[in-house]
Amino acid sequence: MFSFWPKQRRRSHLLEQPFPDSWEPIVQQNVYHFHRLTDEQRDKVRRDLRVYVAEKNWEGCGGLEINDEIRVTIAAQMAILVLGFKEQYFDAVLSILVYPDAYMAKGQHLIEGGLVVEGPSAREGEAWYRGPVILSWADVLESGTGANRGHNLVFHEFAHQLDMLNGRVADGLPPLDSSDDMARWEALATATYNQLRQACSEGYRMVFDCYGATNMAEFFAVATETFFEKPREFQKHYPELYGLFTRYYRQDPLSWDS
Ligand SMILES: [Zn+2]
Repeated sequence: MFSFWPKQRRRSHLLEQPFPDSWEPIVQQNVYHFHRLTDEQRDKVRRDLRVYVAEKNWEGCGGLEINDEIRVTIAAQMAILVLGFKEQYFDAVLSILVYPDAYMAKGQHLIEGGLVVEGPSAREGEAWYRGPVILSWADVLESGTGANRGHNLVFHEFAHQLDMLNGRVADGLPPLDSSDDMARWEALATATYNQLRQACSEGYRMVFDCYGATNMAEFFAVATETFFEKPREFQKHYPELYGLFTRYYRQDPLSWDS
C-alpha cells in the first residue's frame, strides 16, 4: 500500500491544474462521441484522459512523431470506454505504441500467453497482457471521427485489456460483479458467438462484424465496439446481452445525448 499514495498524490496534483486549452479542440474535433455526453461525463473524460496522457509511455513508431493530438485523441476514447467505471487507469498498460497506419506483420492471430494480435497481415492494433497496446493512428482517427461507423480500434484494443483483468488470457469473459451475471454472460455470449460463426460462414451479416467470429475474445472486443457505436441495433436484436453490457460497462450509450 505504501507505493499507492505517491501515485494518488501525483494524480490529485495533476488534476488540480487547469485542463490544457489546446487539448479541448482536439477532443471536440477528433472524438465525435464527446458531443453526445453530458457536462458531467465530459468532465470525467477530461480527468481520465489527463491521467492516461501523463502516466503512459507514449511512443511513435514507423516514423510517426508522437504529439498531443495523437495522445489526447487516443486517451479520450480510452476514457469514454470506461466512463461508467469509478476509476480505471489501465495500470497494466505501461506503453502505447502508435504507428502511422495499419502496418504489415508476419505474425498470425493467436491468443496464447496473453497476447492478442489482430491479424492476419495488415495489423491495426495489438493488445498484450501487461505489455504495450499497439495502435495505428490512421485507424484511431477514423474511429474517433466516426468515419468507419460501427468500428472503433481504441475500444477494441482496450476491451481486450479489460478482458485480461481477471487473468492473463483474453477469453471474452471480463470480471463481472456476481457469479449470476458471469453465468448469464457466458451462456448468452457463447450462444450469440455461435450464431455469428454460423451466419458468417453462410455469408449472412449480423449486427456484429464477422471478425468477432474469430474466437470468444474477439467476440467480446467486437461486441464492445458495437455496444458503443451501434447501441440501437445491438439492443434491438440482443436485448438481454445488451443489458449485461450496460451492467458491465456501467453505462448505456443509448442514453447519451445525440
Ligand atoms: Zn482483437
